[in-house]
Amino acid sequence: MSLFNTTYDVIVVGGGHAGSEAAAASANMGAHTLLITMNLQNIAQMSCNPAMGGIAKGQIVREIDALGGYSGIVTDKTAIQFKMLNKSKGPAMWSPRAQSDRMQFADCWRTMLEQTENLDFYQDSVNGLLFDGDTITGVKTALGLEIKAKTVIVTAGTFLNGLIHIGEKTFGGGRAGEGASTGITEDLVDKGFEAGRMKTGTPPRVDGRSLDYSKMTEQPGDDNPEKFSYLPVTKPLTKQRSCYLTYTNPEVHDLLREGFDRSPMFNGRIKSTGPRYCPSVEDKINRFAEKERHQVFVEPEGWNTVEIYVNGFSTSLPEDIQDKAIRSIPGFENVKFFRYGYAIEYDYFPPTQLKHNLETKLINNLFFAGQINGTTGYEEAAAQGLMAGVNAALKVQEKECLSF
Ligand SMILES: Cc1cc2nc3c(=O)[nH]c(=O)nc-3n(C[C@H](O)[C@H](O)[C@H](O)COP(=O)(O)OP(=O)(O)OC[C@H]3O[C@@H](n4cnc5c(N)ncnc54)[C@H](O)[C@@H]3O)c2cc1C
Repeated sequence: MSLFNTTYDVIVVGGGHAGSEAAAASANMGAHTLLITMNLQNIAQMSCNPAMGGIAKGQIVREIDALGGYSGIVTDKTAIQFKMLNKSKGPAMWSPRAQSDRMQFADCWRTMLEQTENLDFYQDSVNGLLFDGDTITGVKTALGLEIKAKTVIVTAGTFLNGLIHIGEKTFGGGRAGEGASTGITEDLVDKGFEAGRMKTGTPPRVDGRSLDYSKMTEQPGDDNPEKFSYLPVTKPLTKQRSCYLTYTNPEVHDLLREGFDRSPMFNGRIKSTGPRYCPSVEDKINRFAEKERHQVFVEPEGWNTVEIYVNGFSTSLPEDIQDKAIRSIPGFENVKFFRYGYAIEYDYFPPTQLKHNLETKLINNLFFAGQINGTTGYEEAAAQGLMAGVNAALKVQEKECLSF
């Protein structure tokens, strides 16, 4: 069976958290599904924090699990630490959170998808959509293929006309080290869609061997860790890695302020707004100028790596400012950088253009899920992907849709 003469039931564009759940859901519903993504090595890549769940998010992962999605299973299988947050409050407030091994997470997702029946894979970039009047009929790719489908789910994340900012530098990209996606926004705007711009950011990653943990507070996982999935295919962790807590201070804040005039957030180069309050460190010291310190969580990126995610220090300030300021945080005096923090701007489509089944109002059989809808977070993206996958399959099977 060739890509050239197959009409798929469902094509999923993008193998992020939304796309992976969408592909799994539609294939498990019996729909012949093709997942097209730019890089098959990066399936369900965690663009930012290597963690799932947390307050207002953990229950989403459990709901995905209850509906047959894979996010909870993958998280359990790749977790390096589990914590039930909000335990001092009543059970309705408890929020499961797991720190995951970033590399194993992507690997596990790919294995689970490869073991899913009815699911084909193809690595390419979709750069256009095919229509017959107001109905989608397939996609066009950068390599020039036209692939036909009865339904298409677009889950392009932060990639649509993505623009990365670090200090004065700006360059195209959907995520650090990966190209932006062009063509889809333009085709949709031609069809009458309203598009907008949003921004988000990520902190530096550093070498854990260069940190002094004796100056930080250890944050171990729970003594009796739970898990996300209700299924017996996963087990609670028997060993865990600790995170550590340290703080910024007035000296760090002064050093960061030195870079404000070169910051894309403050010199007007970034005009878009964040999808929700997910502030950069420069935002925090600017808005809460009276605060003498902010928390910095030092989080391992996996079992077998020394790389550390510096949670709480998201920034798009110039590299020299990031480098200078972070050294004044206790424990970071001799830090070595692996990757600098950056901000990214991307296109999204206001979700008022969707029906409750996540199908677009303007184009029949075209669905959107994930960050493209102006939301943020792996969990929200995964939940939308699952719903879009289920509904695309139901549409093909001419059955009633499943709405939120
Ligand atoms: C720098 C940065 C910082 C972030 N910070 C936070 C944060 O602090 N908190 C938070 O909750 N969330 C954050 N996020 C967002 C989080 O990563 C996303 O919410 C989540 O990954 C969205 O999932 P998604 O599936 O919609 O998109 P993504 O995970 O972005 O996946 C999109 C996938 O689609 C593929 N793709 C895109 N376009 C095409 C195309 N045309 N053809 C083929 N494949 C395509 C990409 O290769 C990728 O695999 C951040 C993201 C970035 C990039």
